[in-house]
Amino acid sequence: MKAAVYYTNTDVRVEEVEKPSAGPGEILVKTDTCGVCVADTMEWYNKPKAPVILGHEAVGTVAEAGEGVTDFQVGDRVFVHHHIPCMRCEECRKGHYTLCRQFKKTHYQPGGFAEYFKAGAEHVKKDTLKLPDHVSFEEASLIEPLACALHGIERMDVKPSDRIAVVGTGTIGLMLIEALKAYGVSDIVAYEIIPWRQEMAKKKGVLSARAAEEDPEKELEKLQEEFGWNQFDKVCVMAKDVRAMETGFKLTGKGGKLLLFATPAPEEYLKFYVSEAFFKEMEVLLTYSANQNNTREALRLIASGMIDAKSYITHRFSLGELDKAIAQTIGRGQCLKCIIKIDKTEEGSK
Ligand SMILES: [Zn+2]
Ligand SMILES: [Zn+2]
Repeated sequence: MKAAVYYTNTDVRVEEVEKPSAGPGEILVKTDTCGVCVADTMEWYNKPKAPVILGHEAVGTVAEAGEGVTDFQVGDRVFVHHHIPCMRCEECRKGHYTLCRQFKKTHYQPGGFAEYFKAGAEHVKKDTLKLPDHVSFEEASLIEPLACALHGIERMDVKPSDRIAVVGTGTIGLMLIEALKAYGVSDIVAYEIIPWRQEMAKKKGVLSARAAEEDPEKELEKLQEEFGWNQFDKVCVMAKDVRAMETGFKLTGKGGKLLLFATPAPEEYLKFYVSEAFFKEMEVLLTYSANQNNTREALRLIASGMIDAKSYITHRFSLGELDKAIAQTIGRGQCLKCIIKIDKTEEGSK
């Protein structure tokens, strides 16, 4: 079978690799669509693993069901979550599934950017979801990134009365906004420097989408003038650049929570003003990946139409165009989610 093998962001080759087959308890899935995640574009993260077949937002049709598989059969349309917790360790016992030692080690094989992938017995048992007929593969490819946004919401303990700032409105930021709206939050302000993304945030129903004032004090004064309040209960920084995180720190109100969604490179660090944090009694939270409850909730929101999954997909590429999809994702053009359509052959990306 064919797979897109990653060497660097600009060197991705379609190569012939061995097609896996389903052993006991396992399923083989014929990949239809796999989304490109920002993590797939982080060279510092992926190059040490190269050559590697990336892709963890895959959906497709069951092509083989191994011995003993009773919940799925050939022809079922499925989403498979790439990471699976053990459910037995200390972290799992406390509900911190994404921190389970097994979690990060589990992947479907060889990855989502391939014609087929194999879901192991643990995947099949714990986090493979059948797709309702009315949910398209393209929509379902958004389950994993949406689940990550929902994991962040879970971490923050959001209330409908919360005043929330979302810093950075790329795909996950916009999904977070749409999910917050679905949960009844109305006071949401988006901070974003790219005008096109500001417009997208407005379409998702934020009070305002803007670039923050250079001086955070001034920004808070402006909020007071416009909305009659000047404290954010929750500030979600979706961008992986440290300056956005520093802005988020300053915007977090008294007793507020700052949530960081993305990681910069390992050597980068954030200025933490302890005194300010102290007198605000603020909390800093981080959120990594998503668990098996978040994926189920993501599918529910997409299937019910509460999240308009289609609205996020801006570019479609073939397997051989993964390098272009990576470049498109990194670029700051009018782009949200790039997806790889495995059977797509023609050139062109829109
Ligand atoms: Zn991802
Ligand atoms: Zn565990």
